[in-house]
Parts: sequence; structure tokens; C-alpha cells
Amino acid sequence: MASINIHLSHSRRFAVVLSALLLSGLGSLSAFTYLRSRQQFDRQMVTEILPLTSDAVAANIDRLISQPILASRLTADNSLLVDLLVRGDQQPGSIASYLRSIQRNTGAATAFLVSEQSHRYYGPSGLIKTINPSSNSDAWYQRFIQSGRPIEINIDRDTADPTKTLAFVNVRIEGDNRKLLGVAGLGIDVDFLRSKLADYQNQYRSRLFIVNTAGRIVLASDSSTGDLAKHPDIGQSSDTLLSHPKQTLKLAADGREIYVNAIQIPRSGWTLVVIQQPDAEEQALRRLLLQNSVAALLIGCLLIIVGRFTIGRDQEQLEHSAKTDNLSGLLNRQAFAAIFKDLSSRGTRTDSGLAIALMDIDHFKRVNDTYGHPAGDAVIRAVAAAIKASVRESDPVFRWGGEEFLLLLPMSNLEQAVTRLEALRSRLRTTEIQLEAADARTSITLSFGVTLHRPGETSAAALERADQALYEAKRTGRDRICVHDQMGLNSPTS
Ligand code: GH3
Ligand code: MG
Ligand code: MG
Repeated sequence: MASINIHLSHSRRFAVVLSALLLSGLGSLSAFTYLRSRQQFDRQMVTEILPLTSDAVAANIDRLISQPILASRLTADNSLLVDLLVRGDQQPGSIASYLRSIQRNTGAATAFLVSEQSHRYYGPSGLIKTINPSSNSDAWYQRFIQSGRPIEINIDRDTADPTKTLAFVNVRIEGDNRKLLGVAGLGIDVDFLRSKLADYQNQYRSRLFIVNTAGRIVLASDSSTGDLAKHPDIGQSSDTLLSHPKQTLKLAADGREIYVNAIQIPRSGWTLVVIQQPDAEEQALRRLLLQNSVAALLIGCLLIIVGRFTIGRDQEQLEHSAKTDNLSGLLNRQAFAAIFKDLSSRGTRTDSGLAIALMDIDHFKRVNDTYGHPAGDAVIRAVAAAIKASVRESDPVFRWGGEEFLLLLPMSNLEQAVTRLEALRSRLRTTEIQLEAADARTSITLSFGVTLHRPGETSAAALERADQALYEAKRTGRDRICVHDQMGLNSPTS
């Protein structure tokens, strides 16, 4: 029994270790897959997705503004206009009619001219005002001419109609020796640019800003405005971003990671900033990981259940065969201790009695000698079956030795036990055992030694009395029941 227990606890430990290995293996596989795909996603975002998005959007915006830039350049290069300025913009009517024709021909929202000499600002309707370099609304002029850039696009309110916001394409007008004569250009509607940015935001699932040379967000696909350096998601990184165009930065905004890329839009003085929030991808990745892990754990649990079931079944089989006598199918001696302990303590507890009967086949040697050993085996099997058939389902029957049997009768006093054994005895009297091996029939008798277990005594003590009674039954003629009770040995039947 001890060796079986050791064997079973080994296989249990093996199952636990195997389960732990399996689950931790599957767990680390899932985690590894997650980390790998995150790394890959990161690399793709930094080296491919964001740079390509920025390039594509910048090229599109460049295309959209190339016509107004060209038209503005032609406006400023017009020799008539240059002449008018060289002569000190004495003819406001001519300037206005020139600007009107430009506005009409290009379909722009407005056309304008500023004279460097007089600081007069002209629109298609004529002279609008004289600009004041110290006023905020005119600061653009000073900034542009000081930048030295030939062209710049400035998004601002229309000087002629302050309710409108336009993109002004400013172009320097230069005379001989590159002398600055003024600034001219077109004012174009920004709504189409704004709606384009919104389209790109949907298309690329990114946020897009257009930032001017002063670092201000002049157009955005969302509601962002003001200085890029004060933007909640970019803030202090704006300098790094603007000074390293085309490089993707990974920033933490509000505890989330964002990827940012900046690219200059040629000729406009604008920088396009693209922000990608990997939420959708990240979520898809997490979902994938979760699905993987759940699948892996389910498979793991399934394997463990199947394993346990198989091992459990093996254990049951092992336990069963360890307790069973091969020849008779009865319990064997190894099963006795546990069963006796259980029944004797239950009998003591409920004061219900536990009868013990030892039985031995009479003159069994003769069967072997007459019909051969296989016939002897058949007799043992037939006797085992007869005993089983005469007792209750719950009465354990053991093959105690060669042709010796032990019966435990719980909840029985001696009288009840003897009645039951008498029934067995008469059954045997009327039973002819078929001996296939010897082509013969025989009948046999049993001798019985019976006693009651006394509360607190060992099995050996009770068995000793039963053995004495059996010996007495043999001695006094066999085929009888001998009882060992408080009074000693006696034979109620013969
Ligand atoms: P008694 O009435 O005094 O019990 O006489 P007996 O001939 O039965 O004597 P005993 O109990 O000493 O003999 C038992 C014999 O049973 C001896 C042994 O060879 C035989 N035997 C023991 N186990 C087996 C078995 O598994 N199969 C067979 N065929 N014979 C067995
Ligand atoms: Mg015998
Ligand atoms: Mg014997």
C-alpha cells in the first residue's frame, strides 16, 4: 500500500509540475508575442507609417498652394506694378484696377499690394489704409520683409474685411539692385485647406497642424490653436521637432504614447506637424494578445483536465487492481486494514456490531489431486461467487489465503451472522460446481469460524478468535459453523 501511495503522489506531483510548466510556457509565449508585435509596430510607426503620411500630406498641400503661389509671383513680377512703385505709387486708381483684374482672373478672395516707400496698403477697391508697423495687425509686414524670404504664406484676417480669415501669399517686389519696393500677393480662402486637413485626419487617423515660421499653429485638423510650444501634447518638444524635420519623435502625452513628425512644406514657410496616436493599433494589439492568452490558457486547461482525467483513471485502475485478488475477483489481504478500520470504528460508534467469519474449503487438496490445479482454481472461483451471492452488497469478502476466505458483516450480531452463513452453507450443499478443465462436477463444503469484534480490540485479536473457531470447526468434523463468543467456543450447527 505504501509503495502505491508513493507512486500516486509522484504522479500527482508530476501532473502539477507539468501543468505549471505548460501554463507558464503558454503565458510567456503570449507575452513574448505581444512584446514582439509592439516592437514591430513601434518600428513601423517611426520608420514608415508616420514619415510616409507626412510626406504624402505635405506633397498634397504643396500642390494645393502651388497655383496661388504662382499667381502671386506673377502679380508681384508685373513690370507695370514695379514701375508704379518705382515712381512712388502716385496712381492708386491704376494699382486698384490691376489688383481687380488679378483677383478676377485668378478667382482669389482678394489681391493686395503694400508699398515699402509709403506703407500704403491697396486692395481691389483702391487704397485701404496705411499700415502701422507698430500695430499688431500689421506686424506681419515687418516680420516678412525682415525674414528675407521671397515668399511666405500668412493666415490672417482680411484687412479689407476683418470678418474673413484668408491665407495671404506674400511675395517681395524688388527693383534694381534687389531694392525692396513692396509686397504683393493674393488672399485665398482657407476653408478648403481646413477641410482638406480634416479629410487627412480621417484618412490617416492622425491629427495635423500647419505651423508658421513664428511657431504658431495657423491651421489644424482639430481645434488646436496658438503656439506649438504651448500645445498640451507637444509643448517643450516643439523646438526639437521643428529643428529636426522628418524625424519621428515618441512623446508621452497624458500618460499615453504619441508619435510626432514634422516636415516643411516647400515655398510656403509652413511646417506640417503630424501626430499619430496609436490607440486603435494598440487596442487591436491588446485584443489580439488577450485572445491569444485566453486561447492558450483554454488549451492549457483542457490539456490539464484531459491529463488529470487520464491520470485519475489510471490511478483508479491501479488502486482497484492493488486491492483485488486476480483469481476470485474478491478483495485481497492488502485491502483489509483500511476496510476493517473503517467498519470497526463505525461499529463501535453506533454500537451496531461487526461480525467476522473465516472460511476454509474442506478437503480442498483432494480437488487439486483428483481433478488438477485448474479445476481447483475453478472451485475457488465458484466458492467466491457463492459467498458473494449469500451476503449483502455492503459486506466485504476477502480471499484470505489459498482456499481460505474472510467475511466482514457490519451491523450484525452473532445470531444474524450465523443465519447468513447457514444460508451460504445450504446454498453450497445444493450447488454442483462445473469443472470445465476436468469435464467433471463436484460439490464442496466449507468450515466456518465466527466471532464478534469487541470495541477497542485490534483486528489481529479478533482474527485470532475467528481462527480458533475455524480450527474447532475443522476439528469437530468440517462443514460446520463454530462460534467464539464471550463464553468460548461452541458450535450452534453441525
Ligand atoms: P482441510 O479440510 O483441512 O482444509 O483440508 P485441505 O485439503 O483443504 O487442506 P489445506 O487447507 O491445508 O490445503 C490447501 C491446499 O490448497 C494446498 C494448496 O496446494 C492448495 N491451494 C492453495 N492455493 C491454491 C490455488 O490458488 N489454486 C489451487 N488450485 N490450489 C491452491
Ligand atoms: Mg482447506
Ligand atoms: Mg486451508
